[in-house]
Amino acid sequence: MWSNIQKLILNSVRKRRYFSSKVRVRFAPSPTGYLHLGGLRTALYNYLFAKSQHGMFVLRIEDTDQSRKVEGAVDALINDLSWSGIEYDEGPIKSGNHGPYVQSERLHIYQEYITKLLDNGSAYKCFCTERRLNILKRDSMKRQQVPKYDNRCRTLTDDAVKEKIISGTPYCIRFKLTSDCQSFEDLIFGGIAYDVSLNEGDPVLMKSDGFPTYHFANVVDDHLMRITHVLRGVEWQISTTKHLLLYRAFGWSPPQFGHLPLIVNADGTKLSKRQNDVRVEDYRNKGIFPLGLVNYITSSGGGFDHVMGEGVRLKTIEELAEEFQIQKVSPHPTRLNPDLLEECNRLEIKRQLSDDNLSLHLVGKLQRIITEKYADKNLNISDEHVRNVLLWATSRISRIEDLVSSKFGFLWILPSNIDAEVNSSLLKKLIDDIECLEPFEEKSIMERLREFSSKNDIKFPRLMKMLRAVLSGLDEGPRVAEMMHLLGKSQSLQRIQAALK
Ligand code: GLU
Repeated sequence: MWSNIQKLILNSVRKRRYFSSKVRVRFAPSPTGYLHLGGLRTALYNYLFAKSQHGMFVLRIEDTDQSRKVEGAVDALINDLSWSGIEYDEGPIKSGNHGPYVQSERLHIYQEYITKLLDNGSAYKCFCTERRLNILKRDSMKRQQVPKYDNRCRTLTDDAVKEKIISGTPYCIRFKLTSDCQSFEDLIFGGIAYDVSLNEGDPVLMKSDGFPTYHFANVVDDHLMRITHVLRGVEWQISTTKHLLLYRAFGWSPPQFGHLPLIVNADGTKLSKRQNDVRVEDYRNKGIFPLGLVNYITSSGGGFDHVMGEGVRLKTIEELAEEFQIQKVSPHPTRLNPDLLEECNRLEIKRQLSDDNLSLHLVGKLQRIITEKYADKNLNISDEHVRNVLLWATSRISRIEDLVSSKFGFLWILPSNIDAEVNSSLLKKLIDDIECLEPFEEKSIMERLREFSSKNDIKFPRLMKMLRAVLSGLDEGPRVAEMMHLLGKSQSLQRIQAALK
């Protein structure tokens, strides 16, 4: 018994303090476009991991490829992260002890560190022209070999290098790859081993324009920013052993690495931008709530004991951070199920309605959407009416925008120009019958209307037609009893009253 309790305590301590030193992670996007689902997943898992370990989450902008930089992308990215509920601890705009956090502002730092590698013989100047490199590439293609640089400039004599520099020949700086199989323990994939030099020539660290390449800047920054864990997409896994060689050349100890699996469609096919890999901004514009999206990602990607299922409530970002366990992230491709996104959003609407403050905001949001859509109409969008409709709607819709589709227009637009035949004395009687009806639900309303039609000798379809016109001003729409239920008793009575001659 005692040893079981001890085991439990030990396990929970292990879970919470899986990593002993102060955890620091980073999200390092390149501002080459807008934030997509994959990028958001990387940012989110880094954030959850940092928070689960009481660590720090750093945002670093990797903009060394200036030709691919997109204007406004950094601001949009920061905005998307903050909309999603992901706040970084250090990064651009905010301060921190390890800045600047934008790589193009760190060029002097890369110069300093490239000198170290040149001095210790791990890097060398390469004067090969673009033309020569292209010829090499073409030749290997012809021989059906993997194109790789032949490392020619590695063996240039000091005098030859001096001469070229004096004559102003442009050069880049390359890293001397050693042919040795590097291995590491991937936090998600387990043991990985790879000999980079088998498939690559010496990689460029500094381009001739003085800008570093991704690999060099990434390693220098992760080290200087004291990053303890690198969590990134699996497409970077192949580069990790190269990064490990760089750490070794500097004499630094590397961080731990974990690679997040590919995100694929439900049928296992690659995501295309048109299908699921949508921009975060597009989700937002289409009425997806941040917490709905975040729960959708975590439910698809794993990392938790719980599994999302029907009737389960959403977790707040704090709860997700509390429960996140990196060792539970699966290395298998993450399959997306778009129905789950709708379910998560529906649950988010439900969650907001159950909280006084959030529900006020939600009602306000729907009121704004309705007034925008029906600007020139006479509307009923009282708080009470909007809230009642939302409560009814949570089991039927997943986005509040659905409630302004033409099918639901009658809920908000007060009927005008009723051209159906209206029998006022009959409707007056009906008002009395309805006033005392409890509960006011679709089934009981239907029964009451049937009773009323036979008691008053009016054919049921005729009564329905009249009521539909009086309630909505329309010829078609949902069933009359459903409509009355949705409008609620007082709104239904008001509309019938208003039609009396
Ligand atoms: N800048 C790289 C990207 O755009 C970062 C990769 C990494 O996290 O190391 O994905």
